[in-house]
Amino acid sequence: MSPHLPILREVFGYDAFRGPQQAIIDHVAAGGDALVLMPTGGGKSLCYQIPAIARQRAGHGITVVVSPLIALMHDQVGALHEAGVNAAFLNSTLTSEEASDIERRLLRGEITLLYAAPERVTNGRFLAQMDSLLERGLLSLFAIDEAHCVSQWGHDFRPEYRGLAVLHERYPSVPRVALTATADALTRADIVERLQLENAELFISSFDRPNIRYTIVEKKDASTQLLRFIEREHPEEAGVVYCQSRKRVEEIAAMLVESGIHALPYHAGLDAAMRQRHQNEFLREEGVVMVATVAFGMGIDKPDVRFVAHLDMPKNIEGYYQETGRAGRDGLASDAWMAYGLQDVVNQRRMIDESPAGEEFKQVMRGKLDALLALAEATDCRRVRLLNYFGENYSGQTEAGQGVYMPFCGNCDNCLYPPEVWDGTDAARKLLSTVYRCQQSSGHSFGAGHTMDIVRGKKTEKVVQRGHEGISTFGLGAEYSEQQLRAVMRQLIAIGALHVHTEDGFSTLHLTEGSRAVLKGDVPVQLRESTSQRSDKRSRSRSAPAPAAANLGQDAMVRFINLKAWRAEVAKEHNLPAYVIFHDATLAAIAEHAPQSLADLQGISGLGVKKLEAYGEQVLRVCNGS
Ligand code: ADP
Ligand code: ZN
Repeated sequence: MSPHLPILREVFGYDAFRGPQQAIIDHVAAGGDALVLMPTGGGKSLCYQIPAIARQRAGHGITVVVSPLIALMHDQVGALHEAGVNAAFLNSTLTSEEASDIERRLLRGEITLLYAAPERVTNGRFLAQMDSLLERGLLSLFAIDEAHCVSQWGHDFRPEYRGLAVLHERYPSVPRVALTATADALTRADIVERLQLENAELFISSFDRPNIRYTIVEKKDASTQLLRFIEREHPEEAGVVYCQSRKRVEEIAAMLVESGIHALPYHAGLDAAMRQRHQNEFLREEGVVMVATVAFGMGIDKPDVRFVAHLDMPKNIEGYYQETGRAGRDGLASDAWMAYGLQDVVNQRRMIDESPAGEEFKQVMRGKLDALLALAEATDCRRVRLLNYFGENYSGQTEAGQGVYMPFCGNCDNCLYPPEVWDGTDAARKLLSTVYRCQQSSGHSFGAGHTMDIVRGKKTEKVVQRGHEGISTFGLGAEYSEQQLRAVMRQLIAIGALHVHTEDGFSTLHLTEGSRAVLKGDVPVQLRESTSQRSDKRSRSRSAPAPAAANLGQDAMVRFINLKAWRAEVAKEHNLPAYVIFHDATLAAIAEHAPQSLADLQGISGLGVKKLEAYGEQVLRVCNGS
């Protein structure tokens, strides 16, 4: 038995370690360095919290937790207090008296976990305090959370993270554990190099999130599609909607509010107080939909986010996976839903082309975008593709499809509703030849709309003016709808057979090395049939576990509802989100047990010693209606 199992049970009230937690905890508690890669919701926090507690008990002193998330430290520390752990944070939200008080306790070595942002940890005053602790043998461990922030390849690059190399240089004898949910090889290598973790043990978990259902739909009228999705699949449930721009965030939030949904906007253009207010409302109230730019979400540990929707395509699969990963931390059925269209492709290309970065960097970014496009256009299992991207060989079920055995997850749109596929090779060749002939006849390149007009034989003003009726492919693709040609174009861009170049706000199409093979007919272009009708038939039946209280009988349900009301009051009193007091699953288990005594409460998951002591009597009273 791991010597740390008693801490898991006593402090956190959990029965058993999950996945690689035990190996990581044993290694770090024994003073080893570690780099931990685990998906969101995998249980990273315990991987440094339990070693911190164990090492403090063994007399090693304090653990410093580096976290970029000042706005969340209050809740993170509050959750530890609830579990009876001596934790604190140092940041700019404290008054100077509060800060000095914590510094005094810190210097006495009384604190078990101290949370601070990287800019604080690397400043002279703080380092001097660390020096003093080290001299007295009271500097136990550094935990670097959200470690991908150190890398420019990650999606949350924070230059202040680079300064953290000082921890190793100044305190080589103090163990370090770095944690992230970002899995790609480039970012990982960067973390190791920047944080000098060459000798750290690497712990990689499976990145699969089986309870998340991936769906990518073709974008038509994005706001209506979103509204339908929420109304049909997630009424009254908490979710996050990601949009590209601040303006769009505002528009979509307003649209949802108008439709009677409790939605709030969040982006970097709102002042800090309003952002904090909206974040608190999202965390503390039930069923709030946050409409946000990517500025929102890192470190949000709300367990019951039931869906993450993307109205605009993210930059790459890392970003997509990180953002969708915020759904369903509690392990219950959740959705990752994205609407995507040709404009997304063009916009993302433009952002790369027009960025001031160097050519080498742009090349990497283009490669990453292409991988995401291929995911969006895929007709096979999304989960298999996602996990393959992170270097993982997914071994789900295998299903016969058109004579081919393919890995199959059973919980993504393509597995549940295999798309009709049509052969777009002919349309692709006509589009590419048109791009070529336009360039030949006019000496420069044109955009997507004009090219499609020529293929479809439309005599628009521009077509006539340019004399493009005379191009030999004019009207050769009259049988294709604009929607079909758009799909072909997206696919060509996704496979690298067509390049979109943007300059001065105009996007033009260009042939690439990869065009030739398609033109010659060597590369078949397989396209998915439009998916809009199918989605109407979607049912709510799921393979993943249902919400916590779904299986409660009538009496238990009454107890559950009363417990939730009681929890809401406690949470409000403590100024913490409800799930920090107890998760829904814990309340459901209590309700089901119908406890009569404190002994009956023992062993319920999520009920540690401190919570039992603090809330046991109250819980019994609520359950027994007195
Ligand atoms: P991450 O930081 O990796 O996203 P968290 O540390 O927030 O994940 O953990 C996700 C959820 O899983 C939390 O609600 C946490 O309490 C729960 N959890 C973690 N480890 C265990 C465990 N061994 N048994 C039961 N629940 C766990
Ligand atoms: Zn699948």
